Amino acid sequence: MQKEITCTECANRCRLLVEQQGDEILVQGNRCPRGLKSGREEFLGERVTVHGFVRSSVEGVEKIPVQTSKPVAKGMVYKVTLAIKRVKVTVPVTAGTILVENISSTGADLIVSEQE
Ligand code: SF4
Repeated sequence: MQKEITCTECANRCRLLVEQQGDEILVQGNRCPRGLKSGREEFLGERVTVHGFVRSSVEGVEKIPVQTSKPVAKGMVYKVTLAIKRVKVTVPVTAGTILVENISSTGADLIVSEQE
C-alpha cells in the first residue's frame, strides 16, 4: 500500500510517497530526516491533522473550516477538538490565518483551511 502525504514540518511542504514493504516503512521525497519521521508517523496513523469548524460572528459566515498546521499526536486529538470548540472568530479571515498558536501545546497552530 502506498500513500501520498504532504510533509508540513516546514514551509517546503515536500510531497512524500510512503509505502510499507514487509515490516519496513519506506519514505521517498523527503528533503531531510524530519520528513522521514513525519511520513512514517502519519502513515502509521500515530499523528493526524485535525480538521473542524469554529464559530463565527462575522456577518453571513456561520462557521469557518479550520485545521492544525501539521499533524499532532493521536492522543491529543480530543484535547485539540475541545479547544477548537472554544474558538470564535469575530473578524473576516482568509485561508492560512493563524487562529491559535501552539494549540493545546501540540506545537501545531490552528489555521483557517481553504474554503470548500
Ligand atoms: S521533509 Fe524536511 S524539508 Fe521537506 S517539508 Fe518536511 S521538514 Fe521540510
